[in-house]
Amino acid sequence: MSYGIHIPMANEALRRALVKEINTLWPIAKGSVTEVTKPCIRPGCPACQRGDKHRAVIFTFRQDGKQRCLYVPQELVSLLRQAVENGRQLEQRLATLGEALILAHRRTRRRPPP
Ligand SMILES: [Zn+2]
Repeated sequence: MSYGIHIPMANEALRRALVKEINTLWPIAKGSVTEVTKPCIRPGCPACQRGDKHRAVIFTFRQDGKQRCLYVPQELVSLLRQAVENGRQLEQRLATLGEALILAHRRTRRRPPP
């Protein structure tokens, strides 16, 4: 008995369509990009002494079930925001694939009327 995955033509068409979509969605990331204001660690910083905090952009994501944060360099902010938006679109797309596989399978099994 074989447990190999059988990929009929309809499934292959779904795969090709998804790969094409992923190519147009790049860059892709999962997480959130947030702007924060916070004091810095420089001793005697004039801005912090005035009570003006510093703006920073933080990328928050989960890794191995733990939340992690990284500072985002200013020149990467718009790229990363786009990546997160693309990631959301990809997740929505992935949520449709189980149904698509089942419907494609049904179509291949449908017999012509007698
Ligand atoms: Zn400061």
